[in-house]
Amino acid sequence: MSAVEDRVPQRFEGRVCLVTGGGRGIGRAIALGLAAGGGRIAVAARTRAQCESVAAEIGERGFAVELDVTDQAACERAVAEVISVLGPPSVVVCAAGISPVRQRTEHHDVEAWRQILDVNLTGSYLTVRAAAPVLLEHGGSVVLVASAIGLIGSPRTAAYGASKASVVHLARTLGREWASRGVRVNAICPGYVETDLTRAMLAVDHLRAEVLGQTPLGRLATLEEVAEPALFLASDAASYVTGAALLVDGGLAA
Ligand code: NAP
Repeated sequence: MSAVEDRVPQRFEGRVCLVTGGGRGIGRAIALGLAAGGGRIAVAARTRAQCESVAAEIGERGFAVELDVTDQAACERAVAEVISVLGPPSVVVCAAGISPVRQRTEHHDVEAWRQILDVNLTGSYLTVRAAAPVLLEHGGSVVLVASAIGLIGSPRTAAYGASKASVVHLARTLGREWASRGVRVNAICPGYVETDLTRAMLAVDHLRAEVLGQTPLGRLATLEEVAEPALFLASDAASYVTGAALLVDGGLAA
């Protein structure tokens, strides 16, 4: 993150930031970027050890929160804990997400369908809802991690795509609802980056070739290439941006 922070130093100084899915992958990269910009970061996910590891990397401005985003009461407790330890969050990033199956829609496992919608869509909603009182009182910025697959049809990922399309819609609706309340809400729509979420799929030669063939830039994103647009949206540099869905996809959905 240092190259980015050399260009835009300390843009999150004094800000408390809550990052769900912060224990690994894209959420971790965003959490570290927010920290490099001077923020105090609450790193939230179900696997406490991963959150603690990221919080330890951040140092004294890092704090680990064990959280299942599908649990409304747990989201409310997590926000209360963040307020008491770090202060009121003014940046909320929802990166918690799953993509457990690749199945044709007519055969999609219905339980997996419900689970995907529950984590990706309802989990983002419950997180933002729990943070709403403090965000609306003090102002702030929300970044929802959607997907390019929320904007284009993609075979064998119907539930995932529907969940991410809905996340984009949530960002657009909240962008309008909260604009006059001092809270900006945006989504990023990444293409493919190699993480625990995609590793098994990208290890299959023909699937990796399919992804690269569909991506005009002809390669996967790096974690930093996905994190940086999220940091931009979270920061005051995006002060006139709300309700947007920013593609970060190497041209995949162009
Ligand atoms: P990842 O490495 O698997 O990280 C997912 C994170 O979400 C983990 O920290 C995980 O931690 C957390 N999480 C999952 N279920 C949760 C729950 N119920 N409550 C709280 N946290 C939960 O995957 P990633 O690729 O970084 O994905 C991050 C986000 O980017 C996801 O929303 C994903 O859909 C999106 N995205 C990824 C790609 C890609 O190519 N990788 C592309 C577009 C969008 P625990 O399991 O410990 O809870």
